[in-house]
Amino acid sequence: MSELRTHAAEIVEQFSDHLDLDVEEVESRLDNLVNEYRVPVEEARRSVVNSYLDEADLEREELGGGESRAVALADIDEDEQWIDVTAKVVELWEPRNEAIAQVGLLGDESGRTKFVAFETSDLPDLDEGAVYELKNVVTDEYEGNFSVKLNRTTTITELDEDVEVGDDSVEVEGALVDIQSGSGLIKRCPEEGCTRVLQNGRCSEHGEVDGEFDLRIKGVLDDGQDVHEVIFDRESTEELTGLALEEAKDMAMDALDTTVVAEEMRADTLGRYYRVSGPQLGRYVLVDEFERQDGPVDAEAALIKARSI
Ligand SMILES: [Zn+2]
Repeated sequence: MSELRTHAAEIVEQFSDHLDLDVEEVESRLDNLVNEYRVPVEEARRSVVNSYLDEADLEREELGGGESRAVALADIDEDEQWIDVTAKVVELWEPRNEAIAQVGLLGDESGRTKFVAFETSDLPDLDEGAVYELKNVVTDEYEGNFSVKLNRTTTITELDEDVEVGDDSVEVEGALVDIQSGSGLIKRCPEEGCTRVLQNGRCSEHGEVDGEFDLRIKGVLDDGQDVHEVIFDRESTEELTGLALEEAKDMAMDALDTTVVAEEMRADTLGRYYRVSGPQLGRYVLVDEFERQDGPVDAEAALIKARSI
């Protein structure tokens, strides 16, 4: 028996209490997806099963077995996964390429993700502001950013509901147990669109350049269970430390040493408790807002704990 035939027979068996399916017909649907549309076998099977679930008006759970593939947008963290999402079309953008039918931003409570639909997929257009259940979309990754691609096997169901779209912001709190190197008074590459932090006056891309001063803190918050890496930009660093860029430059000038700035910042902040929120970028939370927390501030204990990890 061919592989597809085996899958078909299993599907027929799976639905035997609900639908009177024909093995050959199921096989030909699988064959069409696999050989015509180049869908991986497992995905073709899921897609066919989904369509029969709809036909029989069943939920997957009622068949026993099989996991839900519904994924929150912010949880997408792998390339080429076939998933289902329920999301609102937050924005539609002008496609820059003839092959693209629609491109824009989907949002759900967890956050936002770009989506693309191609002309060849021949799908109905999505409307801005409408909420859809999109089954069988494929995840895509480009330079660490994830998007979803609609494709010929995608089923689109408009839902009569609204979705409160989240902003990808996360909130973490804990004792500031470390300020990492690259914090304090730093210099950035002045080249257009670069902004890389210079190491000994050199940009890794543009070589030796006359850098521009900036302030930042790359810190580590420890909540007793996990550590979170956070980055304070100039504005939030000034607010956190009370040290403005101009003062920091003067300090460094007087000492003929830029590291005094980070030292001063350490003295003011290490061991204190903060709650910060902002978007998560890779392993860092970029601090948009923060507040200092009262309560048990046991700097010594937090530092000892941090060193013992
Ligand atoms: Zn540069």
